[in-house]
Amino acid sequence: MSSYASVIIDISAKGIDRPFEYEIPDALAGRAKVGSTVVIPFGKTSRLGYVIDVLAEPSRSKHQTITAVLDEPLAFDETMAELAIWTAEKYVCSVSDVLRLMLPPGRSRRLRQENPTSDGAPRYSISQPQVNTKKERYAKLMVSADAARQAALELSRAPRQAAALRALADDGPLPAHRIAAFAGASSATLRALAGKGLVALYMEDTYREPDFTYPEELPLDLQLTAEQRQALTSITESNTSTSPFLLQGVTGSGKTEVYLRAIEQVLERGQTAIALVPEIALTPQTVSRFRTRFGERVAVLHSGLGLGERYDQWRRIQDGSYSVVVGARSAVWAPVDNLGLIVIDEEHEPSYKQDRTPRYHARDVAIKRAELSGAGVILGSATPSVESRYRADKKDYHLVRLTKRIEDRPMPAVEIVDMKSAERVGESGFFSTRLLDQLSETIRRGDKAILFLNRRGFANFIICRDCGHVINCVRCNVSLTYHSRERTLLCHHCGFTEPAPSLCPECGGRSIGFFGAGTERVESELKELFPETPVTRMDSDTTTAKDAHRTKLGSFRAQAGGILLGTQMIAKGLDFPDVTFVGIINADTALNLPDFRAGERTFQLMMQVGGRAGRGTSPGSVIVQTYNPDNYAIQALLTGDYDTFYEHEVTLRDALDYPPFSELINIGVSASDEDAAVSLVNRAAEMVRDKMEAGLLPGVKELLGPAPAPLSRLKNRYRWHLLLKTDGDAATKRFLRDAYSGLVPREVRDAPALTYDVDPMSLL
Ligand code: ADP
Ligand code: ZN
Repeated sequence: MSSYASVIIDISAKGIDRPFEYEIPDALAGRAKVGSTVVIPFGKTSRLGYVIDVLAEPSRSKHQTITAVLDEPLAFDETMAELAIWTAEKYVCSVSDVLRLMLPPGRSRRLRQENPTSDGAPRYSISQPQVNTKKERYAKLMVSADAARQAALELSRAPRQAAALRALADDGPLPAHRIAAFAGASSATLRALAGKGLVALYMEDTYREPDFTYPEELPLDLQLTAEQRQALTSITESNTSTSPFLLQGVTGSGKTEVYLRAIEQVLERGQTAIALVPEIALTPQTVSRFRTRFGERVAVLHSGLGLGERYDQWRRIQDGSYSVVVGARSAVWAPVDNLGLIVIDEEHEPSYKQDRTPRYHARDVAIKRAELSGAGVILGSATPSVESRYRADKKDYHLVRLTKRIEDRPMPAVEIVDMKSAERVGESGFFSTRLLDQLSETIRRGDKAILFLNRRGFANFIICRDCGHVINCVRCNVSLTYHSRERTLLCHHCGFTEPAPSLCPECGGRSIGFFGAGTERVESELKELFPETPVTRMDSDTTTAKDAHRTKLGSFRAQAGGILLGTQMIAKGLDFPDVTFVGIINADTALNLPDFRAGERTFQLMMQVGGRAGRGTSPGSVIVQTYNPDNYAIQALLTGDYDTFYEHEVTLRDALDYPPFSELINIGVSASDEDAAVSLVNRAAEMVRDKMEAGLLPGVKELLGPAPAPLSRLKNRYRWHLLLKTDGDAATKRFLRDAYSGLVPREVRDAPALTYDVDPMSLL
């Protein structure tokens, strides 16, 4: 009896692909399994594909046949295959795009046809990966250790050769560079030994190891607090259920310690764990804590690593060399076996959502992966996403709380300064007297301060005071930001840059004004106000070098006193005991965004930044400068009480039917020609509306738009969108999937682009 394989073709799908069914010929029965790499006929060519399912019953009557099964390790197991299919369905994207996240990084897997075998059968292989394994020169003894020591005695006139022989006799085969380091033996020395037949030189695979060092002394034998112990017990003793835990713990309550202990128990059972952190380059401290606890068992995966480093980490995760994987979003796909636990730190962070295809949310994928593998999940946050907290209230998740800081340290005292009426200092006027007083006081005490401003550059509005002309990007409808060091105007969306003009390009007037503060301007003003105090500025302009985050944060940590000034990249996970003051220069940047999550984002970000203050023995204080002091999200900062904020927010969401009360699907259209964009978005809207009116899309509760996107032109493309509020049903998604190819014909060059974003994190 024949069997059939559901195969995903390995091409970056232009549209949204689907699996194709092929017959498994008898000769290949038993070799074509889930995860097998196969060669299949496709159109007039042969293509590479992956078996994602093996079926006894085909869904159609006619089939082509699999040509060959390649002699490759299985690319994924059945759980991951199921996860890929689930992800593609949930996010209305192609399975091959999801599979690409699970395959080794940096490999171009192109099919190559080799000379046929002697009986004429075709042979295939996969072309060279972009990344190769790194090889290194090694030396080993060709004689016994004793003979080598004896030879060393006789080589007294060649002390380096003698030292190399001793090193090899003591330690066995060694990389040449290590012999050079111990024994001062150059490659000429080793060649001389090889010439005498005592030593052989050869090349061997090595691994590129990322550098994680970070200056923190970590206690290894902490006594858990009563709350931590309770949290840990409820997490580790709940064998009855695998529904996720929401660990809601105020900043500084010791959530990391709970993760570490829970992982420890998983490792003791011989299982593995994945820990996701928002953006790993920004959280060197968390990585270092994992490494301190679990040492060599920890792998790290994130985009800040070189491709070679990433490839090597991946390869060794797959061969079982590591039992803990710490990483950013993409680590949720790490090829670990025998998974026992997934931890998601700062689960509310928007960076867990990928903002390009496939647009998955790592938290939701993690929960599904854990469910499929029978593993546990811990979602940790001081300010959980409204969705997660709502699920905990509905008992889909277990809520576990840490209400106190370690050693009962007080939460920082928060003060809100209304900038509409505040007394201000300095020429630019972005410091209130209150903020500056507290900052001076902190510096006088010899403590450290953190200043937060979520805008880089010098000024973000360049306006002609004579004619009112605002200088915008030529490719995007956003204003350009002035960067004073280079004296250029820069678009923060597309990177367009031009020299700053001295005359208004519109009216020729000389009164060009620079408005709106960015970190660069605040830095220069701080240097004038506090010439003696070191200022560390961290934003994407000052952290382009590899490892810049780790080294900058490391030296701020190690120095005495000083100010750390930065954008949201300094908000995450920093634990500096001597920071006693946090100043938020402008709390309104996120609040004014046209997005239903603006309030939530603002509250979360401000709580997170403020939570950096007073984590050591001295208490901390926070000043929040705002033009919207009465806004509920800002008001909630005063008490820092998440639950009050949540109750208000969830009522709003319910009234407007926003998540978690509905699932949103943002249908985005962009085209270089405005008419083409408008026509496509209108066709999409019409199609959905017709179907709704015919009663065929009962899952769609509301259709909003079409409307121009808030960023209505980006990189010379016009952008429109359409928003569906649905009850998350599969039928709507199937409809959208099927509609895709009808809306965007593949053959047309420069066709308008259509994207589906399920659970969008940004509606810009
Ligand atoms: P959170 O992630 O909840 O903001 P952290 O995990 O960074 O907090 O912990 C805050 C600080 O408290 C860290 O310096 C950590 O080493 C320390 N800490 C955690 N648990 C304990 C404990 N049981 N006893 C003493 N110090 C602890
Ligand atoms: Zn631009």
